[in-house]
Amino acid sequence: MAALRCTCEQGTNLWGEFWWIEGEHRWVFFDDEKASETYAEQLTHCRGCGRSLERKGLRATTPSLLP
Ligand SMILES: [Zn+2]
Repeated sequence: MAALRCTCEQGTNLWGEFWWIEGEHRWVFFDDEKASETYAEQLTHCRGCGRSLERKGLRATTPSLLP
């Protein structure tokens, strides 16, 4: 698990997990904003800028926990 944030800085805090899905590893992202209505729900797009979430487009907020 890794704490992440979109580089646009307008979106919510996220956490990402690296899952094995249908024969490949994929990042899955969840809302990590406790005050959010969608807390702990899976997110596919940044709420700030609307970009689809990809690991390379996100900034780690806890670098020491990166896989
Ligand atoms: Zn964004």
